[in-house]
Amino acid sequence: MELACLDLEGVLVPEIWIAFSERTGIEELRATTRDIPDYNVLMKQRLALLDQHGLTIDDIQDVIATLEPLPGAIDFVDWLRERFQVIILSDTFYEFSQPLMRQLHWPTLLCHRLITDDSGRVVDYKLRQEDPKRASVKALHSLNYRVLAAGDSYNDTTMLAEADVGFLIHAPQNVVDEFPQFKSVATLGELKAAFVEASDRPLTI
Ligand SMILES: [Mg+2]
Repeated sequence: MELACLDLEGVLVPEIWIAFSERTGIEELRATTRDIPDYNVLMKQRLALLDQHGLTIDDIQDVIATLEPLPGAIDFVDWLRERFQVIILSDTFYEFSQPLMRQLHWPTLLCHRLITDDSGRVVDYKLRQEDPKRASVKALHSLNYRVLAAGDSYNDTTMLAEADVGFLIHAPQNVVDEFPQFKSVATLGELKAAFVEASDRPLTI
């Protein structure tokens, strides 16, 4: 039995906070863990900015609904789901990803949750667990699945290490250089070929 696990942002859809920052013109929302390494500090700043600009969860989803998956991503996910059970393992939030997941035809998504009050104000966030991507692959192994995985950045590397076969896709050069144990591909077309080759079943593209 084989499963394919994919990261979401940078693989199938744009970086959501950066795209959201561009659509709203709120420059400070571009900050990522590269600028503010402590994730909790970063998230508190993001929530404070949402408040400051009076953005509710509905406003946020309206903006994100104007975003589109990366070119070829919808077809890629459809292709993959005909050949593998597919699970998206992401560090995004369900409430953020929803408009993009709709366009991807709702593959299974394991991620985190934003907490909102009755007025739609985002008051907090809930991370699912520590090291969630690795923990998910471990759990799938305990169910006797062979796991193939692909991601684009540092937060994917424990998932790729835990998987039976892990690929980098669209990864920045520093990540490619730092993790030479993972085959790096540049396009979703190349990722199709990599998954076919890594499968223990006779698949075709
Ligand atoms: Mg990513």
